[in-house]
Amino acid sequence: MIPTKTLKNGVEMPYLGLGVYKMTEPEVALQAMVKALEVGYRAIDTAALYNNETEVGEAIRQSNVPREEIFVTTKVWNSDQGYDETLRAFETSLKKLGLEYVDLYLTHWPVQGKFVDTYRAIERLYEEKLIRVPGVSNHHIHHLEKVFAKANVKPMVNQVELQPYLAQEELRAFCKEHDIAVTAWSPLGQGKVLEDAVITEIAQQLGKSTAQVILRWHYQNDVITIPKSVTPSRIEQNMQIFDFELSKEQMEQMNQLNKNQRFGSNPDNFDF
Ligand code: NAD
Repeated sequence: MIPTKTLKNGVEMPYLGLGVYKMTEPEVALQAMVKALEVGYRAIDTAALYNNETEVGEAIRQSNVPREEIFVTTKVWNSDQGYDETLRAFETSLKKLGLEYVDLYLTHWPVQGKFVDTYRAIERLYEEKLIRVPGVSNHHIHHLEKVFAKANVKPMVNQVELQPYLAQEELRAFCKEHDIAVTAWSPLGQGKVLEDAVITEIAQQLGKSTAQVILRWHYQNDVITIPKSVTPSRIEQNMQIFDFELSKEQMEQMNQLNKNQRFGSNPDNFDF
């Protein structure tokens, strides 16, 4: 069973979910999602951009898991930002998903001049109970401060790139102070940190894979993760991180790997 984090409004969000970016082949996507739900995943992270919201809904219907036990996240894409545009984009997402509500809706990237209005629309969807949690993605502290200035209800989740080489300590501390849960996207650094020597050494000490060590490090740092895989054995392996622990020393070794290295875009100069 995957443990959950209690968000600011009391909603329980699983600490680990399946990320489904680049699962564009419908059959492959569907198979991966159904497999994940079968082995115990209870959260799926999609986005309008990923072009697989239809498969997310289909996987939920194909599984025998009740809708209310599954935590679905989706995001409004950059070209749909602004107040009215976001409301319309949400309607489209909901239709594709074939669901009555979404658990978490996020501004995908802080589009200059639009992200505050985008969030205000997300807030309205929350008031209308069409989403259970309002949130954002790729927001630096300065973006969050601009959102706070106009929001009645602050975002409850911020999903950002976070992996051993980009530990985001300052942002995590800020989010903690404001009761915003942090989700790591590319929690495995898109697979590029899996051969790190320090992580490999820790994995050998524990008899675990490097992917499991990294996901466990996130969890012990109170960070939610959404690793992506379409390989059944890896989907299963990635959720088996709740029955072992990194020692204080191993956590410290992991924390020291940070070098502020991004594999994805910086939200300040994202090419819209
Ligand atoms: P990731 O860090 O999850 O790495 C995924 C890659 O790691 C896979 O393609 C696979 O090659 C490898 N992998 C996974 N499990 C493994 C295992 N057990 N052993 C060996 N290799 C393994 O990278 P990601 O897909 O970029 O990020 C995960 C999710 O985050 C996405 O699917 C998406 O849902 C989300 N995301 C969000 C944003 C955003 O802007 N909000 C951006 C990127 C990704």
